[in-house]
This record gives sequence, C-alpha cells and structure tokens, in this order.
Amino acid sequence: MKIRSDGTLYTIGAVAAIGIIASSYLAVQGMSKNSEIESLLQERNALLKEMNNKSAELTTASTTILELRTEFDDLKADLEDLADDYRDEKDKNDEFEDQIRGLAGTLGDLDKLAKTDKELLAKYSKVYFLNENYIPTKLKKIDDKYIQEGKNDQYFHASAIDHLEDMFKAAARDDIDLKVVSAYRSFDEQTSLKGQYTQVYGTGANTFSADQGYSEHQLGTTIDITVESVSGAYESFAQTEAYAWLQKNAYKYGFILSYPEGNTFYVFEPWHWRFVGTELARDLDRKNDSFYDLDQRELDEYLLNFFD
Ligand SMILES: [Zn+2]
Repeated sequence: MKIRSDGTLYTIGAVAAIGIIASSYLAVQGMSKNSEIESLLQERNALLKEMNNKSAELTTASTTILELRTEFDDLKADLEDLADDYRDEKDKNDEFEDQIRGLAGTLGDLDKLAKTDKELLAKYSKVYFLNENYIPTKLKKIDDKYIQEGKNDQYFHASAIDHLEDMFKAAARDDIDLKVVSAYRSFDEQTSLKGQYTQVYGTGANTFSADQGYSEHQLGTTIDITVESVSGAYESFAQTEAYAWLQKNAYKYGFILSYPEGNTFYVFEPWHWRFVGTELARDLDRKNDSFYDLDQRELDEYLLNFFD
C-alpha cells in the first residue's frame, strides 16, 4: 500500500465503505435469517400441534382397541363357556343314549331269551321228562333229497333247519352223502316206536330207545343219521367215513352226539345227533365235554344265542 496524505484517507474511506457494505449486507442477511427462523418455528409449532392431535387420536384409538380387545375376550370366554356347556350336554346325551342302547340290548336279550324254548337245551334221558303235550314251536319239512329212501316225510325245528341243511351240504361237498332216518317224533310216534322195539327186543329196548316223553326227538332238533352203505345196521355207522366226518365237523353246525361212547345214559348211539346251537357245540368240542355231563344251569347259559 502506498502511504500518501490523501491516500491514507482514501484507505480509511475504502475500509469504511467496505464496512458499511459488509454491515448492510449482514443486516440484510440477518433479516432474511430471522424470517427463516420464524417460518421454521411456525412450521415446528404446526408440527407439534399436529403431533399433539395425532397423539390424542392415538390415545383414543388405543383406548378403543383396548375396549374392543376386552369385549373380544369377554365374547371368547362366553363362547368357551357355551362350548363347555354344549360338550357337557352332549356327554350327558351320549351317556343317556348309551344307557338307552344298553337297556334296549338287555330288553332285546331278555325278549330273545323269553322266545327261546328252554326245553331245547334240557337233558332228557330217563331222569328228565318232556311233557306229552310238548310240541316244538314250528316245524319245517326237511328236503326229500336228505331223507333215507323209503322213509316218510321228516320234520325239523324251523329255526334250526338251516344249520341242518348247511351241515348236509358241507358233507356232500366232501362226498359224504348223509341221510336222515328220523327227525322229529311226536309223543305218540315215540310211544308206538317204543312199543315196536319192545315187541322185538323186550326190555333190552330200554338201552337204545327212549320211553315216550324222554326222547330228544320230540324236541324237533334231533336227527338219526345214516348213509346208504349202512342200510339197517345203524350200529355200524360208527365205522363209516360219514361218522368220522360228523365227529370232526358237526359241531360247526351246532350238532353234537348226545350219547357218545362210554356215556352212562344209553348205549353208544353214533347215529343220533342233536342240535344244541353252534356256541355250545363249539365249546363242548373244544373242552372235549359231553352235553349230558354239563350242569343244566351251565347249559342254560347258551340259550340266548341258540339259533344264531
Ligand atoms: Zn335218535
């Protein structure tokens, strides 16, 4: 810088001028900053207000949500109670239904039992007596093809005849041609038959022929069986294949040998088969028991499913 008398002044003047310009610039600058700050403040206030509003709204909303939530929980609890009640009711109903079903079953059994002729599992041999007026509830004619040639029509208990025919069919499938010699015999028929036997055999007839009223044939569930090869010699039936087949299979159809070898009631009667129901016949076969050696009480337990 050149120092001159006027120059000095000039320099001071220049510095002052710059100062004025700068300060007015700053003043302008300051003014514009102020208005910016003010607008920012306004903006901030607006935002704060909005925030307050939002927060108030949020508080209201969360209160509503809480209320709804409580309401929902209450509803849920009510529904659960209802469901519980429903389950309880249902359980009670189911239990009741079971009871009813059980009762119906018991009644059904009792009814079935009441309708099953108790004589059908009674023991008849010398000691036990079947009334002269006794006749089976219903008889059905046995198909002629199963009857020994030259014999009259033969009848069997209508409710058990299917078992009889099933057995004859099964035997036929194994080439065993079973024939019925005699099935149902009434009291009178038995009387006349015993009379004939007694004429021929005297008191010896007692060992193989039952007196009237003691014969299982009067029940309608007993048959005398033979095969052609045996013709009249029924004792020899024990040596036939047919007898062996019956011993092995008859129980499956509910038939048993009433008087097996060594029994204390009659002589061995290999031809004489009695229907006692498949349940009892099966048990007798499994335990190797004979019908007449069982207690009457024990036998009676099989009455319920006799014809099944
Ligand atoms: Zn017989």
